[in-house]
Amino acid sequence: MIRENIDSVRQRISDSCARSGRLVGDVKLVIVTKAASGKQVGEVIGMGLNTLGENRVQDATERYAVFGDTAEWHLIGHLQTNKVKDAVRIFKLIHSVDSARLMEAINKEALKSGKVQDVLLQVNISGEDSKFGVKPEESTGLIKIFKEYKNIMVLGLMTIAPEVKDPEEARPFFRALRELRDHINSLNLTTHNLKLLSMGMTNDFEVAVEEGSNIIRIGRAIFRGGSR
Ligand SMILES: *Cc1c(COP(=O)(O)O)cnc(C)c1O
Repeated sequence: MIRENIDSVRQRISDSCARSGRLVGDVKLVIVTKAASGKQVGEVIGMGLNTLGENRVQDATERYAVFGDTAEWHLIGHLQTNKVKDAVRIFKLIHSVDSARLMEAINKEALKSGKVQDVLLQVNISGEDSKFGVKPEESTGLIKIFKEYKNIMVLGLMTIAPEVKDPEEARPFFRALRELRDHINSLNLTTHNLKLLSMGMTNDFEVAVEEGSNIIRIGRAIFRGGSR
């Protein structure tokens, strides 16, 4: 069943790419395992699909103890400064950096372990109170701060769209994140361009891909039969 679900998600990614003139190879699928069993995680890794997303550092720590580097772990949920040490140890990419303080803490831990930690800046593009993330207008300031740090690398932006009935309603938020990234890049604040846009989940990933997402984070469509 997981296999079929993943194939179906892949087909839908491919269709969205075709509709928007994009290359399938430019869209990375992060399989969100927060609601999966350990057995299911093993199954997914066994299929050679090994980019896995977890919401909580604690859960990821347990999974990492079992599966280690057979998977590439991504943190997609909020990160507290007291969990930064484990986060730096485990995650290839932290999608949820949302403050200067957190950046500083990550840089410090990464320096200790001789790692350059890849991160994304989480942006609260919809402005909902319930959501983590920096305000769009704060994002350039944080990109400037990050330049001071040698052991943290901001590769792009992440957002969570509002929950809407019709995924089309999420489109303006995805478009706004892409435009924000392009705007930041046009300012030449960093030596490298911000390339990554982590946006799109089970309910809205097709629209997100059409709007330029290159990392989608999918849980339910794979582990619970999905939204269709
Ligand atoms: C749970 C979660 C996902 C996956 O959501 P689904 O609707 O299960 O696909 C993606 N991103 C974040 C930040 C999440 O918390």
